[in-house]
Amino acid sequence: MPQDGAAAREGRSAQAASRSGAAEGRDAPHPPGGPDDAPGPAPGSEEDRADALAQALDAVEVRRSRRRVRTVTAFREGGRLVVAIPARFTRTQEREWVRRMVTKLVSQEQRRRPSDEQLLARATELSTRYLEGRAQPTSVAWVTNQGRRWGSCTPGEGTIRISSRVRGMPRWVLDYVLLHELAHLLQAGHGPEFWALVERYPRTERARGFLEGVAYATDAPADEDDGEEQVTEP
Ligand SMILES: [Zn+2]
Repeated sequence: MPQDGAAAREGRSAQAASRSGAAEGRDAPHPPGGPDDAPGPAPGSEEDRADALAQALDAVEVRRSRRRVRTVTAFREGGRLVVAIPARFTRTQEREWVRRMVTKLVSQEQRRRPSDEQLLARATELSTRYLEGRAQPTSVAWVTNQGRRWGSCTPGEGTIRISSRVRGMPRWVLDYVLLHELAHLLQAGHGPEFWALVERYPRTERARGFLEGVAYATDAPADEDDGEEQVTEP
């Protein structure tokens, strides 16, 4: 912890996060599949969290900065997890802060990763709220084989698949992707009737912009015109 006590915003919130982080640390050695009678979180989520934390701590890159005086931050950069700390930190401070910040980041990411069951429940809520409950999904699942698409559906069966690339994105972006697929259960294609349904969701425009930005950052085509429509379209 910074010795001057003037921990910046990240520092203070990290302290709060570290309390639960310490508890998780003690729980982490539970063997996978062991007894888990803890109430609350969805089945497997504690293990997922412990796994994710262990993985993140394993792969973390620590950056010491002379300009950084009293802030510590953790972020993802090109698939790596980076923790930036002041150059003057001791090894002990480094260890302590890396653990705090990674714990905080991983819990934040986990909160943004609902299970398939939670996805279905959310999709049903969104259908009720924006589509008068007319879209009735039978299942919603995370999948890894969507290519550049954010989601897809099979109207005849009422099944919806959401790309795992959406995992970890803000809730309102996930809601848009879900609503987009729900609307496809009622309207094939991207005609005016389709967009009239999707635009009932107030953050549609913003979510589309967010997804365009992600697509651009992760797989920008060499030629700007190449596949642009496909990239931005869930
Ligand atoms: Zn579509």
